Amino acid sequence: MATEGRESSAAGPEVIGRGIESGARMFREWFADLTRAANAGEGAAYVFVVGSFNEILQTFGMPVTFPEMNSLQTAIRRVSSEYLAVAEDYGYSSDVCGYVKADLALQLKGGEHPMGRVPKPSMAVLTNGCNTYIKWAEIWERLYGIPVVTIDIPGTRSPESKSQPGSEEFAFEQRYVLGQIKELIAVCERVTKKKFDIDKFREVLRHANDMSLAWQRVVELNKNRPAVYNAMTDGTVFLGVANAFRGTKEGATYFTELVEEMEYRVKHGIGILRKTENGMEPVEQQFRLALVGTPCYPIFRRFDDLFAKFGGVFVTSSYMSFGSGGTCAGYTYDLERPLESFAATQLLMSRDAMDSMFHQALVLENTAGKYGIDGVIFHPIKSCRTVSTGMADQRRFVTERLGLPTLILESDFMDPQVISEAQMKNRVDAYFEGLISRRHQSAA
Ligand code: SF4
Repeated sequence: MATEGRESSAAGPEVIGRGIESGARMFREWFADLTRAANAGEGAAYVFVVGSFNEILQTFGMPVTFPEMNSLQTAIRRVSSEYLAVAEDYGYSSDVCGYVKADLALQLKGGEHPMGRVPKPSMAVLTNGCNTYIKWAEIWERLYGIPVVTIDIPGTRSPESKSQPGSEEFAFEQRYVLGQIKELIAVCERVTKKKFDIDKFREVLRHANDMSLAWQRVVELNKNRPAVYNAMTDGTVFLGVANAFRGTKEGATYFTELVEEMEYRVKHGIGILRKTENGMEPVEQQFRLALVGTPCYPIFRRFDDLFAKFGGVFVTSSYMSFGSGGTCAGYTYDLERPLESFAATQLLMSRDAMDSMFHQALVLENTAGKYGIDGVIFHPIKSCRTVSTGMADQRRFVTERLGLPTLILESDFMDPQVISEAQMKNRVDAYFEGLISRRHQSAA
């Protein structure tokens, strides 16, 4: 595959690895700010990744926290079991979404978190991106009596009849979302006792535009061979920054610099790197994989190792799309008509995010060839029915219609007790034996 790098600056080798380092540092600093707010008794807006409306909250200067990201951090930091046990002792069933339970435990523990302390909510914003969001926010409403703004985003009813910008149906849906955004602004004004400042909003949107365009470029740069980042492991770091820093200058600068690094790596053939005891080392790339679903956070690195040992690298992932609320697709706002354009773009982005959960096979139909995908890994998890429901059917579509070898691995992204590493290893080993023999046969 031809490379698509077009290094636009005088970047040198010092940029290699900068994206991961800066992303991790920014995320730690962001958490330190939240901890300071919590210790000062200040509240934060609680929001979700599908439709955070962070641009509105940034305009009001509100601290924002993402309970989904707080929960996944407990799994990465290997303490999710303790949090899940607190919620289950409190009465929540083992079937309830693990993110909800870890957050409830966090509330019961006064905001205590392995990265610091999470402030109590001052308000919450949610969409219908996942039906669990609605029940989850009711917990905060009961515990704290805060205002909760639920924004109903018209999703894709059928992939063939999706409303398109310019159509009457789209204009109707846009007005519907805009009306709800105005209600959100009114609640923010009440909570913060500040007036909405349209010029500040424009500035926030400008930063969000810069981030969106750079984020889209990062996604596209992985069409190159070798792939320049791991869409599952590195992608999780990019997602953290994309969500937490959306609408800020730091967030826009981060993604602009990330493009600079990735373009440099494309130009110089520097593929995915991995931290080893000898420093950062290139990963062997034999098979280009797509991940459908989420990473396996309790064994984050070891999950990746299962594939890396055969030269399997994740080039794309549906998680980058739904985990970013669709912000990686490159949609931008028209600053001349900020609110109307914000409503239309939020509609498009949230709809993309939902499609990447519910219609992933159709997304792959468009993208698998462009990314040179050799195989697709489906990862349904016990905690999240929203993402996992229908994966078996999607897998059948990908195998039969797209002719791609697939593997389905069931586990969880919060509860280590339902993760059977030995079983997963056997299935991954068998999958790669099939991929290797298929490759030999086609070479013969
Ligand atoms: S069910 Fe899935 S998408 Fe919904 S809140 Fe839980 S983890 Fe997120």
